[in-house]
Amino acid sequence: MRSLKDYDANRPTWCPGCGDFAVLAALKKALAALDIDPKDLVVVTGIGCSSRLNGFLKCYGFHGVHGRLLPVATAIKLANPKLTVIGAGGDGDGYAIGMSHFVHTARRNIDITYIVMDNQIYGLTKGQSSPTSAPGFVTPTTPFGVKEKPVDGVTLALVNGATFVARGFSGDVKGLTEIFIKAIKHRGFSFVNVLSPCVTFNKYNTYEWFRERVRPIEKDKDYDPTNRELAIRKAIDSKGIPLGVFFEEVRDTFEDDVLRVPSHPMVEEPIEKRNLKKLNEIVEQYI
Ligand code: SF4
Repeated sequence: MRSLKDYDANRPTWCPGCGDFAVLAALKKALAALDIDPKDLVVVTGIGCSSRLNGFLKCYGFHGVHGRLLPVATAIKLANPKLTVIGAGGDGDGYAIGMSHFVHTARRNIDITYIVMDNQIYGLTKGQSSPTSAPGFVTPTTPFGVKEKPVDGVTLALVNGATFVARGFSGDVKGLTEIFIKAIKHRGFSFVNVLSPCVTFNKYNTYEWFRERVRPIEKDKDYDPTNRELAIRKAIDSKGIPLGVFFEEVRDTFEDDVLRVPSHPMVEEPIEKRNLKKLNEIVEQYI
């Protein structure tokens, strides 16, 4: 059995108190509980403070361009479905420039886990409003307050066919760990939106602000996480902020449908069987 130390890498450089520390801690606990070997783990990130995550975790990592982590994660999973593939980024990365990739990955149901650390602001570039900033929120780019309605990742994932949808909170590492364990175990596209406060630039959506509003979804005794319609109603419910697993269903994954032999990864095919001539022709077009 692996311990948390087996996932240690570079020391995090986030601001003290940043919610992303809790995401990293919960992810390490989940990986240790599932006994995932770091050599079989790939974490793909975008751009932003939260996208530094794979530098602080022992794993294979790919630091992509802004909003484009999901296509890279998809390609890695298709090349080798035996790997555990996790995508991680922020709300700016995933819900602004990366919005269309998010929607299409959800409906495609490829077996990867996608974690969005949602701090409702662009932290890395010093505090501009993001797609999840609250209406009225004043920032350098919205001096008269945000005028748009915020994007809700949970609702978006649900209406676009994601097969595992959850919301966690950085103020609850235990609950977040349990969600990550379920998300990684789920076969299909697992989406986890994490309320992860930016203590430096977002002085409105603080840990205290969230603590006054969050409530576990399990408290609702009649809640059925296999009912998508109920999950959507729960996600748009304006009473508090529910935490936990909103929805889970089992259905064929993208790799089940498109790979010729899913149990035999492309990466294990003998090199002489690959069409290197064609590959070189394609590469040369870009040189
Ligand atoms: Fe975290 Fe905000 Fe600091 Fe970025 S700026 S590391 S999001 S607290």
